[in-house]
Amino acid sequence: MQQIPEEYLKMSREELTDKINSAITKLGDDLLIIAHHYQKDEVVEFAQATGDSLQLAQIAAANKRAKHIVFCGVHFMAETADMLTEDDQHVYLPDEAAGCFMADMANDEQLRICWNDLAGKFGDTIMPITYINSTAAVKAFVGEHGGTTVTSSNSEKIVQWALTQKERILFLPDQHLGRNTAYALGIPLTQMALYKPLTGELVYEGALEDVKIILWDGYCSVHQQFTPDHIAFLRHKYPEIKIIVHPECPIEVVLASDEYGSTNRILNVVADSPEGTHWAIGTDNNLVGRMMHDPHHKIEYLNPMSCACLTMNRIKLPHLAWNLDNILNGNFTQKITVDEETTKLSNLALERMLELS
Ligand code: SF4
Repeated sequence: MQQIPEEYLKMSREELTDKINSAITKLGDDLLIIAHHYQKDEVVEFAQATGDSLQLAQIAAANKRAKHIVFCGVHFMAETADMLTEDDQHVYLPDEAAGCFMADMANDEQLRICWNDLAGKFGDTIMPITYINSTAAVKAFVGEHGGTTVTSSNSEKIVQWALTQKERILFLPDQHLGRNTAYALGIPLTQMALYKPLTGELVYEGALEDVKIILWDGYCSVHQQFTPDHIAFLRHKYPEIKIIVHPECPIEVVLASDEYGSTNRILNVVADSPEGTHWAIGTDNNLVGRMMHDPHHKIEYLNPMSCACLTMNRIKLPHLAWNLDNILNGNFTQKITVDEETTKLSNLALERMLELS
């Protein structure tokens, strides 16, 4: 992995902005810059489109024009975009070290061990489902075994469909999205088991044959920071307040909230609420900070002390400027490429999801 040259880190904001704007003009339609909602303001300012994981995957898949797609997000998102775009389109991650804490909690080796173990316990009754926040290798395993990807926007629809195909689901890597989704569909917590990849242990209550949802013991370091106490504190302080959180939060937090949903749903629910509604929002604070500019609603951080996603925050203006210069100079340093076999298998899972969404 190549380090960003010092000269970019020393440039003023004005120099970086000029460089980026000039590259955008030179590259014209050959360039598409897209950014996840959790990116820093300084980066979002240059994005031609912003969105959550599902929207960005759809935008990347639909764009057949841009030769260079600069993905301001994290590693698995750039991998997904590479797999969904044409061979002559290149996808870049401005800082290759921008991984995802959650995606890195499941690898294909652990998944293979888990799958064999579960087959011994449950036979051929399980569909694997992976959150889009997972590595290409994990997506490939899931695609090869008849499963699909999900995002926080479509998880209920897809889990519901999956349960018409198989008796059980293995949901990875985020236990919270899996648990919140299954619970919302009426599946009791007693029918959910937790698989611990580090020990191979399967934790469940009741009878093994009643288990319907097997949750991988993974989580997001950002959404794990919210607790029911944060909600209780704000409700006490502002009795009229409404709480909305992301489904990567623990179930106790989701159940104590008024609403929950993907980042896109959070934006829509707040935008559609009556003028003056007071909201506290439990998701990455970069997004919440931007939402606070909304003149029609009063917005609070659910936890003002929570750290924004460290890896999303790795991408700053110097990385974007360096990436664009590299493209102009024919240097593909920040290009993210997934091999052909992994792409073929992963696309089975991704395309199944896009068809069902
Ligand atoms: S917010 Fe959580 S899930 Fe999203 S990239 Fe950061 S660590 Fe991964």
